[in-house]
Amino acid sequence: MRILITGAAGFLGSHLCDRLLGDGHEIIGMDNFITGNPDNIAHLAASDKFSFYKRDVSNYIFVPGKVDAILHFASPASPNPLSKSGYFNLPIQTMKAGALGTHNCLGIARANNARFLLASTSEIYGDPEVHPQAETYPGNVDPVGERAVYDEAKRFAESLTMAYHRFHGVNTSIVRIFNTYGPRMDMEDGRALPNLLKQALLGQPLTVYGNGSQTRSFCFVDDLIDGIVKLLYSNEHKPVNIGNPVEMSVLQFAEAINRITGNPGGITYMENARSARDPQRRRPDITRAQEILNWEPKVDLEEGIRRTIPFFKQKLGLA
Ligand code: UDP
Repeated sequence: MRILITGAAGFLGSHLCDRLLGDGHEIIGMDNFITGNPDNIAHLAASDKFSFYKRDVSNYIFVPGKVDAILHFASPASPNPLSKSGYFNLPIQTMKAGALGTHNCLGIARANNARFLLASTSEIYGDPEVHPQAETYPGNVDPVGERAVYDEAKRFAESLTMAYHRFHGVNTSIVRIFNTYGPRMDMEDGRALPNLLKQALLGQPLTVYGNGSQTRSFCFVDDLIDGIVKLLYSNEHKPVNIGNPVEMSVLQFAEAINRITGNPGGITYMENARSARDPQRRRPDITRAQEILNWEPKVDLEEGIRRTIPFFKQKLGLA
């Protein structure tokens, strides 16, 4: 296939490029680098099966030649208010990437009779009132809350995707991505894994926000990419959760990182700057992914962190 990937220089986009090139496809990458990093795709420059366009997907985009599939991964994604690359500091771009960017990508999919895959998110469930979250749960999002720029953009993107499927018959799919970690994460985006692993490798105390009782379920990137590719190759149109169902508190997560890295720095509790908007519990119900895609994660937290450490050490100049 000839596949367009938006957000190709991002954490997930760049891993998708690698995986799909490895599967023998031709890849057209697109990114405007507001949060993506050219380093993530530098190794692909020599490949004659990889081409790249620096574009903002919120504007009209044109791709010469036939396209067989489009994966729309372009969006800021970090909820950290202190991070320059987080969506609090890029609110309009975030809404445009989710709304206008999705519209542009669906237009390309329709014109090419191509498979379309939308990168959606567990954030469409907001601060969930049901646990774990199955795809049937419609979510709990405040449309004017501070996280809404991301959550509502993705919710709109899902609605638009289903409209193109139902009204225009486009071959669409939607993956709802839960917390994911691994090499090529933005070290400065302020999320739990980059913050805590960086602190641990530098021998510092880990910053746990609030009392650390809020939970997440962390998936290693290779598992996530495997699930996304299985969804791409399937004929499924309804949303599918892809994530690791092993749930833990943020405190347990921090303790695990200290144990795995041998960090003597301990834990420091900090006021949660995101308290009013920090979802309290999050765990994917992956029954649909298991049944439809025959997918489930294989990499446990310990192995995933061990496989992430070399990238962080290299970036920190510790390798
Ligand atoms: N968190 C933390 N310390 C940090 C960064 C994050 O305790 O240095 C917490 C944060 O409050 C949240 C969880 O870790 O409850 C996951 O945050 P992340 O930014 O990774 O993503 P989210 O799941 O909130 O989108």
